[in-house]
Amino acid sequence: MGARILVTGGAGYIGSHVVKALGKRGFNVLTVDNLSTGHDWAVLSGELVVCDLLDKEKLREVFSVFRPEAVIHFAASIIVPESVKLPLQYYTNNVVGTLNLLNVMREHGVKKFIFSSTAAVYGIPADIPIKEETPLNPINPYGSSKATVERVLKDMSHASDIDYVALRYFNVAGADPEGELGEAKESATHLITMCVRTAAGIRPYLNIFGTDYPTPDGTCVRDYIHVSDLAEAHIAALEYLLDGGSSDVFNCGYGRGYSVLEVVKIAKKVTGVDFPVEYADRRPGDPPALVAHAQKIRDRLGWQPRYDDLEYIIATAWQWEKKRVTILL
Ligand code: UDP
Repeated sequence: MGARILVTGGAGYIGSHVVKALGKRGFNVLTVDNLSTGHDWAVLSGELVVCDLLDKEKLREVFSVFRPEAVIHFAASIIVPESVKLPLQYYTNNVVGTLNLLNVMREHGVKKFIFSSTAAVYGIPADIPIKEETPLNPINPYGSSKATVERVLKDMSHASDIDYVALRYFNVAGADPEGELGEAKESATHLITMCVRTAAGIRPYLNIFGTDYPTPDGTCVRDYIHVSDLAEAHIAALEYLLDGGSSDVFNCGYGRGYSVLEVVKIAKKVTGVDFPVEYADRRPGDPPALVAHAQKIRDRLGWQPRYDDLEYIIATAWQWEKKRVTILL
């Protein structure tokens, strides 16, 4: 068996794809998830322990029994507009939960940590594409909670022998090409999920939030990355740390932006459904454009994306959506 890897949030959308990828590589995986938004059926490798990161005692027990060699940390609240309404909940889950995890890691001598960060730490960046050195200036509580943890990790890595990789995800979308996993949250809000759910008739129409942004067509521009490519970025980061790599931060995107209107057009083509759209006000907390400068992770970690194709990303989301309704509804 390979190294023991503890994955928090491994029953969720991104975490479950990473757990599957870890299993395929022969790692010994344990998922810790409170199942607030995740699903036990999504954990395709290793055991699942239902545990909240705010329950430090239970976390300690899990560490004592499993003795992880590295931790990959997904468990967090992730919806920008919700974070604007519920900042305390976001800071508690995302910051206090992570501090508990880091303290328990320290108590048990675990020295390798991979953190799910986000492009939201950049706020409204002066330059696009965004380089990792860009100063962090989040404009919503979600981004602030992630930037706060990045700051903690930086300070901690200077003061101890813990090494971490923070992966700043741009817009993660799509689903497992083998059709076993995908976005399963009823409460999902992300654009591509909303498009395929509207195409499937689960939602009456798609909202387009804001048409007066300073972008070519007035709608927000994002860099959409396939979830399985993102999973491979975690494997690359893990191998890097296990080989003795030092702490670092990487953008995870393809370096190309699409507007909301472009996404909608491609989603209609891929699904073959001319679903209705409604133009709505801007959503609070949305920056106009987020596109990654995406070279560093290729150069340093040797990451090679396989699915850099928005049509393919949406096609896998669509394939999953049609299957999901048979599993969950
Ligand atoms: N968006 C939209 N309609 C939706 C969901 C999202 O117009 O139903 C827009 C949103 O305002 C933003 C972009 O799509 O400009 C990406 O939002 P998403 O929630 O997918 O990801 P975020 O960038 O907030 O992490």
